[in-house]
Formats: sequence, C-alpha cells, structure tokens
Amino acid sequence: MTRDLRHDTASPEAVLENLEKYVNPGRARIYRLLGLDSVEYYAEGSTVRDSAGKSYIDFCSGYAVLNAGHRHPRIVDAVRACLDRIGMSTKTLLSAQEGEVAKRLAALLPGDLQMSFFSATGAEANEFALKMARVKTGRVGFVAAEGGYHGKTMGALSLTAKGTYRDAFAPLLEGITHVPFDDLDAMDAAVGPDTAAVVLEPIQGEAGARVPSDGYLPGVREICDRSGALLILDEVQTGMGRTGANFACELWDVIPDIITLAKGFGGGVLPVAATVARPEVFAVLDENPYIHASTTGGNPVSMAAAMAALEVLVEERLAEQAREKGRRVMARLEEIGEKYPEIIAEVRGRGLLTGLAFTNPSGGLMILSTLLDRGVLVIPSLMDWTVMRIAPPLNIDDDILDRGLDILEEVMAELAPTIVELS
Ligand code: PLP
Repeated sequence: MTRDLRHDTASPEAVLENLEKYVNPGRARIYRLLGLDSVEYYAEGSTVRDSAGKSYIDFCSGYAVLNAGHRHPRIVDAVRACLDRIGMSTKTLLSAQEGEVAKRLAALLPGDLQMSFFSATGAEANEFALKMARVKTGRVGFVAAEGGYHGKTMGALSLTAKGTYRDAFAPLLEGITHVPFDDLDAMDAAVGPDTAAVVLEPIQGEAGARVPSDGYLPGVREICDRSGALLILDEVQTGMGRTGANFACELWDVIPDIITLAKGFGGGVLPVAATVARPEVFAVLDENPYIHASTTGGNPVSMAAAMAALEVLVEERLAEQAREKGRRVMARLEEIGEKYPEIIAEVRGRGLLTGLAFTNPSGGLMILSTLLDRGVLVIPSLMDWTVMRIAPPLNIDDDILDRGLDILEEVMAELAPTIVELS
C-alpha cells in the first residue's frame, strides 16, 4: 500500500507531531508556544494560503528567497520545460546549462567576477569562497563582522558571529577574528599579513537590515588591497535585487574578489547557490578541477531556475522595484517609529530589506504573532531577535504592500499600550 503524502489533508496537529517526532522537537515547541498552527498549502506571487483556506500577505519572502514572488510563472515554466527533457546531469556528458548561466551572471556582475561554481545553499557557496581564499593567498586567517551571518556548516559557521549557534561545535576554524561592523579602524587593526580574506555582508541581513555608512565598504576594499587580503562579499541575502541594486556591492561601487549568491538566485523555485570569483582567484581549480565539487551543483534543472531568475531580475527590473517600494515601506515605518518611540528603537534598511528594531524582544514577538494572526507573515532576525524584518517579494503589488502596512499600523496601535506597560 502506498502512503498518501499529500499534506493538504493533514491536520496542523499531525504536522506538528511529525515535526516533533521525526524532524526537530525544538522547532515544534516554538511553533506551539507561538500558537502557530497553520500549514502552508498554496502560494502565488506575494500571497500564501494555508490548508484551512486562510490568506496571508508574505512580508518575509521565506528569508529573502522569494525575490520574484512565489512560483513566478516564467521560472516555473523554465523548470518544467527542463524536466520534460532532463533532470539531473549524467555527469559524464557535457552539460550546456552551467556555462550559459555562468556567462549570463558574469555579464551582470560588476568588474571581472567571471568564474562560477554552483551549489545549493548559501553556506556551501561560502565554504568554497573560504577555500579559494586560503589557496590563492597562502594565508589562513579571516576577518568577519560581529552580527554577520554566513550559514551553519563548519566553515561558514566559523564566520557567523552568534555564540548560541557556535559554542556547541567548538573548536571551529582557527584564525577567525570578528570586528564590529561599520568600524573601519577596527577592520584596519584586524587585517594583517596572515589574513586570507575579509568576509562581509554588504548590508547585514540577519542582524536586522544593518546598513553601513557610505565609506565603509570602499574603505574595507582599500584595506584589503593594501594588505593583500581578498574581499569576499556574501550577497546570499542582499543579492538578486533585494537592496535596490542587482547586487548590493554596486550601491557603493565596490567590486569584491569573490561574491556568493543563493536564496533568490534559484528564483524562489529551487535551491541554487553560486560562488563567483575573478579568474585569477578561481585559478585554484585550474590545476586540480576536482579539488572542490558538488555532485548535483549546476544540474540542468537548477540552472534552468537560475537562468530564468536572472532574466526576471533584469527584464522585470526587480532592483528598481525594490528601490521604489522600499522607499514606500521606509516612509511608513518611519511614521510608525515616530509614533511609538517607546517601543521602536530604530527603523532601518535599504530597498526591500527593512527592519523595525524594537526596544525589547518581547514587544517584537507580540507584534509578530499578532501579525501572523491577522494574515501578515513577518520574521525576526536570527542574529538579533529585537528586529522584525519586512522583506516582501520585490514585485509585490502596491495594493498588497499597502494593505500589509495598514495591518501593521493597526496592530501597532492596538498593542503599543500593552507593550509599553510590560516594558
Ligand atoms: N549568508 C547570508 C548573508 C545569509 O543570510 C544566509 C542565510 O540566511 C546564509 C549565508 C546561509 O544560507 P543557507 O541557509 O542557504 O545556507
């Protein structure tokens, strides 16, 4: 007898039970604590419906994965068309798609970021960046920023700055220094003759949309050039139009030696990641092409998704949309910030990567769970739970965007007195 794996008929309790027994009991506990018992079922554009038929406005894009929205028809069609022909690569015959996507990406990226290695996740993309930097420079050290999030595999985790994610796994990679973000003096003092690379998010996503001052990234580039260290920019979250430029490094005209992409790079349809480097940095693979590899990385289906995602990025001007809609969101968030200064410590962000920093974490969580209840999906920031992020799909309709912001304002007005009382 085959088991019925359709989840549309599963009750939220059955879903939670499976999560608890077979996947991750801690996560099940958090869902229960938050009273979160809706099962995602159908999604299109910027809206999602749960299995009970309730609708949600998506203000979090699955942690900035859905830049092109849910199931963008062009990206879905590209994946379907590929699947009608071929799925995974034979790995023996030539595979055409990988080179085509890499070529397209090279044309879009600034400077001579030309050579791509494809994988599936942001952490994987960063792993190869670290390995390349060590081989290219012959040095072992890395400098990363406090608040930085780069993933949770061993190498990437060594750069991720939060103790609660790291401590259980020590010792991590040696030679890593964390410095305060947006502090050029600290960066200058930390980078030395043993530094293989500085690894930064141009705008820190999981720290809650932290935007550096304008001189920061150009200054870091200069420090790297002076000391012979490479600059690795992790654009897993900021890339693909999210911050109002195709890649956030373009906001400050800074060209890294290596850039990493994931999340929106798969078009919100498949997990696809890329590590892209200047040719002389990538030369690590010339001598031994199998020194780093992924069996399924660059497979035809993922490449079909990535190619369509790049086409949508350009042709639907996602970065420009993020810029325009981001201004609208920031204006509304600033109004909210001014109205509730006892609760909102700061409003920040760029493009459609924006955050409301609460003066205390419980205030943010109360707002977040009430918003879920009222049909707006938002997320806290992994590195700083006091910041609620608002990061909708970049092509969200203005009407839907305004409706979500209206609901946010209503919820703030309702809960503000209680939050003030509790703090
Ligand atoms: N780098 C950044 C900037 C991220 O925001 C994330 C995930 O949130 C990662 C890397 C890790 O990506 P993944 O979860 O796909 O490994």
